[in-house]
Amino acid sequence: MIYQAASQRYERMVYRSLGTSGVKLSAIGLGLWNNFGSVDANDRQAAIIHQAFDLGITYFDLANNYGPEPGSAETNFGRILARDLHAYRDELFIASKAGYVMWPGPYGNWGSRKSLIASADQSLRRTGLDYFDVFYTHRPDPQTDPEETALALDQLVRSGKTLYVGLSNYNGEQTRQMAQIFRELRTPYIINQPRYNLLNRQIETDLLPELANQHQAAVSFSSLCQGLLTDKYLHGVPADSRANKATIPFLHPVQVDQTLQTIQALNQVAQRRHQSLAQMALAWNLRQPTMASVLIGASRPEQVVANVQALDHLDFTPAELTEIDTILDR
Ligand code: NDP
Repeated sequence: MIYQAASQRYERMVYRSLGTSGVKLSAIGLGLWNNFGSVDANDRQAAIIHQAFDLGITYFDLANNYGPEPGSAETNFGRILARDLHAYRDELFIASKAGYVMWPGPYGNWGSRKSLIASADQSLRRTGLDYFDVFYTHRPDPQTDPEETALALDQLVRSGKTLYVGLSNYNGEQTRQMAQIFRELRTPYIINQPRYNLLNRQIETDLLPELANQHQAAVSFSSLCQGLLTDKYLHGVPADSRANKATIPFLHPVQVDQTLQTIQALNQVAQRRHQSLAQMALAWNLRQPTMASVLIGASRPEQVVANVQALDHLDFTPAELTEIDTILDR
C-alpha cells in the first residue's frame, strides 16, 4: 500500500528552536541506532518511521555505523525514504554522523578530514540523499587537531553535503573550543548531542552551562537509558527486549538488576503524575531549557505513540523534582 502521511501530523507535536538558529526540531526525535539494521524486519522499520512522521516527528537521527551490520540503518532508511517519504523530504530533518570505527585501516575512524569527508560521502550514497540537514562529528578525536575536524565539517557545508553541523559526545571545554573555531569560520554549528537521562546527569554541571552561555541547543541521546527508564524491566527482563538481544551488546541484564529499585521508585512518581515512566523520563529531559529535543529509540510503532504522549504533561512541581533528586541520590 502507498504511504500517505497523516494530514493532522503537525497538530500535537511541539517544535523547539535550536538556540538562535531559525531551525526548529520536533521535541521528540527518532533515533535509528538499533532496530533498523539488516537483522531487523523491513516492514516493522517502515511502520515505526511512518508512525513517527504521522505524529509530527521531523528529526531522524542516523550515523554511519548504525545497524547492525554497520551502514545498514542508513541503507534501510534510504530505501523507506525513497519509497514512502520522498515527497516529504523538505519536511524532514535528517542527521548522520562519523567518528566511530566504520571501515578497516587508518581512515575509517575518528575525526580527520580524510575520515569525515569520505564517511559523509558514503552516508549520502547509502541513504540516497543529496544532502544531510545536520552532520555531526560523533566524538572528539584526541589525536586530531580540533581545527582539522572543524574545517572538515565546514567543508561539508560549503560543498552542499550538509546544511548544518553538530557535535556529539563533546564535553563543555571541548565544545567551547570547537564553537570558537566554528564562529571564526562562520560554520553553521547548531546542535550538540550528549547522553542525558535520569540515570546519567553528568552534563548538568559541565556541558549544559556551556551551551547556555553560547545560546546553543542540545538533543539528548539514550533519553530512556536504552529502555531502563520504561516499564519494560519492572518485572524482569522480557525475551523481546534490548537487554536480551545478542545483537545489541550495550545493555546487560546485570544493569537491569542494579537499577531496579531506582526504576521502581521513579515509576511511582510517574504513576502519581498519571504518566508512564518513559513519558516522565522524556518530560524530565525536556525541562532543561537548552534541551530542544530528546531522541528515542523504538522497536515498535506503539512505543513511538506512547512516548509522544509525554508532551501532554511536561511540567514538574518543585516537590516532584525534589522527590526525583532524592531517589537518584540514594
Ligand atoms: P532509548 O534510550 O530511547 O531506548 C530505546 C529503547 O527503549 C527501545 O529500543 C525500546 O527497547 C525501549 N523503549 C522505548 N520506548 C518504550 C516504551 N514506551 N515502552 C517500553 N520500552 C520502550 O534510545 P537509544 O539508546 O536507542 O538512543 C536513541 C537514539 O540516540 C539512537 O537511536 C541514536 O540515534 C542516538 N544515540 C546517539 C549516540 C551518540 O553517541 N551520539 C549514542 C547512542 C544513541 P526494546 O528494543 O527493548 O523494545
